Formats: sequence, structure tokens, C-alpha cells
Amino acid sequence: MKNIYFLGECMVELRSTGESTMHQSFAGDVYNSAVYLKRCFSEVATSVVSAVGKDKLSDKMLERFHGENIDTQFVFRHENKAPGLYLIETDDTGERRFTYWRNDSAARKIVEFLSDDVVEQFASGDMFFFSGISLAVIEQSKRTQFWQKAEQLKNAGVKVVFDPNYRARLWKNEQEAKTEFEKAFRISDVLLPGVEDLAVLYGVETAEGVLEFCKPYGVEEVIVKNGPESVVTSEAGVSQRHDIIPVKNVVDTTSAGDAFDGVYLGARLTGRTVTDAVQLAASAAGIVIQHPGAIAPKAAFLSAMADAGL
Ligand code: AMP
Repeated sequence: MKNIYFLGECMVELRSTGESTMHQSFAGDVYNSAVYLKRCFSEVATSVVSAVGKDKLSDKMLERFHGENIDTQFVFRHENKAPGLYLIETDDTGERRFTYWRNDSAARKIVEFLSDDVVEQFASGDMFFFSGISLAVIEQSKRTQFWQKAEQLKNAGVKVVFDPNYRARLWKNEQEAKTEFEKAFRISDVLLPGVEDLAVLYGVETAEGVLEFCKPYGVEEVIVKNGPESVVTSEAGVSQRHDIIPVKNVVDTTSAGDAFDGVYLGARLTGRTVTDAVQLAASAAGIVIQHPGAIAPKAAFLSAMADAGL
């Protein structure tokens, strides 16, 4: 059985539904990717690597993971921290605003739980995924340790996969993010950048520009996402452009890139070509953006994926 480890943070999501009522769910980029991968490729063992608390919401979060058939043996329970939380508010013009409480979340402590034993178990896996958000969340004092562990996995033959998701407010300044991203670019076997993220940090404005930007790092597989525009890839130095069908009735683009990543990686782990994997991933992202929130309803998602040829 193929397996993949998604390291990062899942948060409690609150959405205002009235003057004093809220809807509560769970979301976070690597968790979203894990959900969509597992929904499409049940034969791939899919683990989230994170830390939560010992509180009731953490229990509920784990239940949700189990409901999506995600392996939780590496979701550690911190003694006195709790999950991060964010609130989505929509103003009168329909503009959404996010407020976060995640500076002291359990997930920031994840590296403390990555003992030699744990890393040894990951070392027999196929892929290890983390994002720019995962990097930002890891405490600064623990980043050197994180890179040592990632290096160990790479040396053991695990494919290292990075999505340079950039969230400015999680970093002290751009330079701090760039320093960590540089290490990630160097260690990665697969990169899944979105043009938007690299545009902000490096001024690279086109998908082809992103491929050029990635070249010096010698990454085996680079998949560049660019919203409704075509996806551009490079595999072993060979570039390709893949047309995607733009969605007309976009409801909410939250987690489009996450769904893309999860389904792309699942497709590759189950032996699909880059071209087939991009088509499935783009279909998944196209479905997700027609539903509100990060996680689309399972039945509707799977039925649309079946229509897309899964
Ligand atoms: P982004 O993170 O905006 O680059 O989007 C990630 C992926 O979602 C893209 O590579 C597309 O496959 C898909 N996507 C985003 N926006 C659209 C859209 N309007 N129509 C179709 N697919 C989209």
C-alpha cells in the first residue's frame, strides 16, 4: 500500500450565521489536501501529522479525520495547548474577512513530537508533504530540527513534496519566509506552486516564469497552478501546458489549490501520468470551488469526480 504523510495544522473554523450564531467545522490546507486525496484514492494510506489538544474540540477534530478515513496515529495530543481557530465573517458587500487565533496552537509544537522512532516510521513511506503554511506554523526555534528530519526522510528515499502557500501574516517579514522557502525548494522532489504565491514573494507573474524560477533547484516534478488558466508542468526537465475548463459559477475558491494538490498526489501515487493526474486534480479543484467552504459535501464531490472519469 502506498502512503503519504501531510504535516501541518488543522484549525477549528467558525462561520457567522447570524447575530449570535455560528457554524463550526474544521479546515487547514494540508488537512484539506488529505481529505480530497483519500476520498479519491482510498487505497492510499493517508496520514495527517500534527498536534492537537486534549479538549473536546480536539476530540471532535479527530472524529472528523476518522470520518474521512485519515490515519491519525501521528496526530499528537499536547498536554496543555489547544487547536488554532479562525472566524469567517462576510460583510454587507459579500467580502469575506478572516480572523485567526493560532499563535499559541498545539500544532506549532509538532516538531517536539517527531522523535527518532516516529521519523523512522515515516521513512518507510512514499511521500512527505508540507506547505508554506506548515513552515510558518512550526516554531522558529524548531525549524533547524525540522529540516534535519526532512533531510533524513529524503535520504531514506521518501519523496519530499512542497506547496509554497504564502500567508504574509504568519511570517515576521518576507525575508524570513524566503529563507525557509529556499530550503524547501532545495530539498523538494515535487513542487506544487501557485503563481499568486510566488508573485507576491518573488515578483514572478506567469506560470512559465514560475517554471524558470524553479529551474536552478533541479526539482524533478514541478506543477504550476494558476487559477482558471492552464496548468504548466515540468517533469524531468520536459515542460508541458495542460488546458483546463474554467468554471463559470464559482461560489468559493477556498481550498481549490489544496484539493488540486491532494488529488494530484493521489493520482501520481497510484501510477497515473502527470497529464492524467493534472486533469483529475483540476477537475477536483473545479468541483470544490462550486461549493462553499474548504470541504465540499462528500457525495456531491464523489459523484462529480466519477463524471470527470475517476
Ligand atoms: P489557484 O490556487 O487559484 O491557482 O487554483 C488552484 C487550481 O484550482 C487551479 O490550478 C485550477 O485547476 C483550479 N481553479 C481555480 N480557479 C478556477 C476556475 N475559475 N475555473 C476552473 N478551475 C479553477
